Amino acid sequence: MRITVKNLNKLYATAFEKMENMSKFLGKNCVDHALDFHYGHRIKIGKQFTNELYPIPLIRFRLKGIKTEVFFDVYTNNDYIGYIKVYPNKAEILSLDLEVFANLKYLIYGYHYQQELYNSEDLKETKNIIEKSKDTRFIIYADFDNLEQIYNVVEKLIIKSSQRFSMANYKCECGHYVTIESYDGTCPVCGRESLFKRKFKTKCPVCEAKCLKDQYGNGECENCGWKLDKFANKFKNRVIYPNLISLNKAKQLYSEGKPFEPNLDDFVEALYNYSEMQFKYNGVYYTVELACENDDEYDIELYNSKTSETFIFKTKEEFKNNAKVEGKFLKDIWEETTEKDWLQ
Ligand SMILES: [Zn+2]
Ligand SMILES: [Zn+2]
Repeated sequence: MRITVKNLNKLYATAFEKMENMSKFLGKNCVDHALDFHYGHRIKIGKQFTNELYPIPLIRFRLKGIKTEVFFDVYTNNDYIGYIKVYPNKAEILSLDLEVFANLKYLIYGYHYQQELYNSEDLKETKNIIEKSKDTRFIIYADFDNLEQIYNVVEKLIIKSSQRFSMANYKCECGHYVTIESYDGTCPVCGRESLFKRKFKTKCPVCEAKCLKDQYGNGECENCGWKLDKFANKFKNRVIYPNLISLNKAKQLYSEGKPFEPNLDDFVEALYNYSEMQFKYNGVYYTVELACENDDEYDIELYNSKTSETFIFKTKEEFKNNAKVEGKFLKDIWEETTEKDWLQ
């Protein structure tokens, strides 16, 4: 038994060491990242997965704004020490240079069903298939056998900052150990702003209370909850991320003492802004996504996370008028839905 534990310790120590090396590498390149554990990984022996579930360390970060995870396995061999997963949406994957992954044997899956494979020998062909597909979100997956392979990918995809910042390490409120650019970081796991972020005084455009913004004009008003955003200040009647309603509507609701809840029109406007939304009804999450059928028109997909059913609407009017959940028109039960938000 003691031998088994010793061996197990060694396996984890090796995986941690690789993770720490990668953390240093990301720090040097000013990439915000968080250390985490992935529970529920299955041991792969040869090409077969066993039924054993066990935790492995991973690092979360963003490459060109796209969620990325690198997993460090404890059961390794000459060809395999871990795997990378990149989660682009359709626009992101189409704009991504897939050549970057050429030194890895990568696979591209659709996010929802994870069966559809989009790989083709020819990169152009791969993008054609992706463009025509119904999937709106994707996973690029690859095993790797040494850290250099992952460093290569990261180096090609990082946006180099013009200035070198120092890095700060701390434990985020969400429980993850985070390394971020000291002036400008947010936790890559939960999105909370770092404690070190530089702030400037300003006035909330909705309620006029004093509040703080960062160097990009972002921040949150503690009095009314409005999320400061320079684009919202410019386009006062438009729904712009990260708010779910327009600035002028927020002013109106604030003056009436009402909460900043989007109505169905605001929600659809936000959908066209961000392409993926969610709401909850009767304990079930629903996803609403734009799907590109041809070049100039979007279908709207309503996805029920419990039944995995997808309903497709050809226009936004059709969605607003005909979308149903549990047999009831969405427009009739909209007030009863909760967690109306960008897809989390
Ligand atoms: Zn966090
Ligand atoms: Zn305010």
